[in-house]
Amino acid sequence: MRFEDLLRPTPKGLYCPPGDFFIDPVRPVERALVTHGHADHARPGNEKVLATRRTLDIMGIRYGADFARERQVAEWGERISINGVTVSFHPAGHVLGSAQILVEKGDVRIVASGDYKRRRDPTAEGFEPVPCDVFITEATFALPVFRHPATHEEVQKLIRSVKQFPERAHLVGAYALGKAQRVIAHLREEGYDRPIYIHGALKKLCDYYESEGIDLGELRPATIARGKAEEGEAKSAFAGAIVVGPPSAFADKWARRFPDPVSCFASGWMRVRQRARQRGVELPLVVSDHCDWDELIETILEIGPQEVWVTHGREEALVRWCGLRQIRARPLHLVGYEDEAE
Ligand SMILES: [Zn+2]
Repeated sequence: MRFEDLLRPTPKGLYCPPGDFFIDPVRPVERALVTHGHADHARPGNEKVLATRRTLDIMGIRYGADFARERQVAEWGERISINGVTVSFHPAGHVLGSAQILVEKGDVRIVASGDYKRRRDPTAEGFEPVPCDVFITEATFALPVFRHPATHEEVQKLIRSVKQFPERAHLVGAYALGKAQRVIAHLREEGYDRPIYIHGALKKLCDYYESEGIDLGELRPATIARGKAEEGEAKSAFAGAIVVGPPSAFADKWARRFPDPVSCFASGWMRVRQRARQRGVELPLVVSDHCDWDELIETILEIGPQEVWVTHGREEALVRWCGLRQIRARPLHLVGYEDEAE
């Protein structure tokens, strides 16, 4: 069997012809296998969805209980047969519940890793390398310029700034699924034990993480009664506070409630100064849920596949790097996955 006969890119997403299923389809299909809960990978409207329990829970929180007609839980490592193709889910280390999907038929093994990262994250199951013939890797930060600094140093930057400016609120932009909880958990690990204020859009997911045993410490809603905000009285309550919200909230009125805010943004993109400037970010925090360049190539060397298929991001550099090391590689040119949405 040729590799492409088992899994191939299509406009709807990665498709397995013998199994008749898609992985992370970008348009509704009969049977979807979903790697993780981010909106560009997990979409509502499929007939049947197979995913980890946590990913199914997260889809239910985001889209409502009726996001699919039928849902099936994949336990970690459980081998599930679909039309004669065996699939199994293995931790990807990206966000809570995120999985790589191993697809096997005959003696061919292909791993679709979805989004993944290698460094420790107290809020996600750690990445497990899975031996395979074809490793499908993301390429969000696949340029040698991308080297993420140590996470605890970035979080310490934030803590130092809060100490330095006790009269200002620190507004931390972080994506609602994964990044927000991770930043909060790292702050706790670094000893920050004051209440952390969260935007309403984060509440359900933070509650869910806590219900899964991930301790986020004391969280309070970042709300101010309207009249009081104008008086400036309640405003002072946020002096010296850390407020976490989705990046989109920082462009609107919500952000103006806070006293002389320090605008922070937790993202791998903050490695690019120009991006930080464009967003008006005063304190960029380089915290990523994707591999940096070194982690991508270390992962490929560790797994040692016959072929590497590269998708969603900067494919060319990684394909060329593989070529120089006699590893067969090709870009998949899948569309519909946003490199911003980490
Ligand atoms: Zn993702």
